[in-house]
Amino acid sequence: MLVGCIGGGQLGRMLGLAGLPLGLRFRFLDPSPTAPAADVGELVVGAFDDPRALARLAAGVDVVTYEFENVAVASAAQVGALPPPRALELGQDRLVEKELFQRLGIPSARFGSLAETGLPAIVKARRLGYDGKGQRRVEVAGVVGEDELAEELVAFDRELSILGVRGHDGETRFWPVAENTHRDGILRVSRAPAPTVQAVQQAEAEELAGRLLDDLGYVGVIALELFDVGGTLLANEFAPRVHNTGHWTIEGAVTSQFENHLRAILGLPLGSTGAIAPSVMINLIGGAPPTAQLLELPGAHLHLYGKEPRTGRKVGHLTLVGVNEATVAEAIALVEDAAEG
Ligand code: AMP
Repeated sequence: MLVGCIGGGQLGRMLGLAGLPLGLRFRFLDPSPTAPAADVGELVVGAFDDPRALARLAAGVDVVTYEFENVAVASAAQVGALPPPRALELGQDRLVEKELFQRLGIPSARFGSLAETGLPAIVKARRLGYDGKGQRRVEVAGVVGEDELAEELVAFDRELSILGVRGHDGETRFWPVAENTHRDGILRVSRAPAPTVQAVQQAEAEELAGRLLDDLGYVGVIALELFDVGGTLLANEFAPRVHNTGHWTIEGAVTSQFENHLRAILGLPLGSTGAIAPSVMINLIGGAPPTAQLLELPGAHLHLYGKEPRTGRKVGHLTLVGVNEATVAEAIALVEDAAEG
């Protein structure tokens, strides 16, 4: 079977790596001739919203998916992409997304005007914001533009995420909740299963993500980012795709997010989402330590995406499975040194 994917970044590359053992073949659409996914499939070089490039991507494929959430809804619709384009449509505008949460009874930060949120608040661009870009903290009353959304500043204890997958038949499965640490708006570390998450909190997270999956008539993997405020979960945002906070599942879970995404969109049976052992995923940002140093760490699995190092750029990740905190601390120190150097 042939899978088409809009976007040829590291997520596409990891989809390909997960699908090759299943006998799948891949074709990616990306404007860059050196896209990371080109190593694992055919590459169509073209703009994401070019109808002719999209037609070349879709010719003869069994299914088309996408690996980033800013795919134009019309482009996804042209190729009949899964997850359903409605998920893109509702997720691309932060106001519409928050209204969806509200309609589904999914708790989130207060939002709207500064009068509704109170101060301090966070003002976000409604569209095309990612990794904390297009976001500012507001301390005093002022104007929020039409293309912006104000949110109450949440004093969260930690950030969590849950990944779920839904099949054609409506079956859903969820991985253990991950605990995520960000710096400068970029994910640095994910720990899964998240330390001290109780069964009731896991069940609550599954319930919230399940409402989204069912309402969207979803097929594939979804990620829901959450704030943990004294044990109460507030939804921040969802991503209709495989997600950085699920990279630990490649080695740390029975079935990875990438494999289950493929199984779902191809109508194949879903695999177990259980964790094999506690895992810690560390992003390699701006640069990577020497490979030999990382592979010396016990339980270490290295993923390099084939990207040129650049400040703030994710060039790979390291997952430690079933290791002690001393090893985790050593790995984080190594990675941070390389990022600064
Ligand atoms: P986002 O672009 O919505 O994913 O936000 C990026 C990061 O900003 C989040 O991971 C949080 O660390 C922080 N953040 C976003 N929204 C809020 C909020 N309402 N209150 C406090 N922190 C927030």
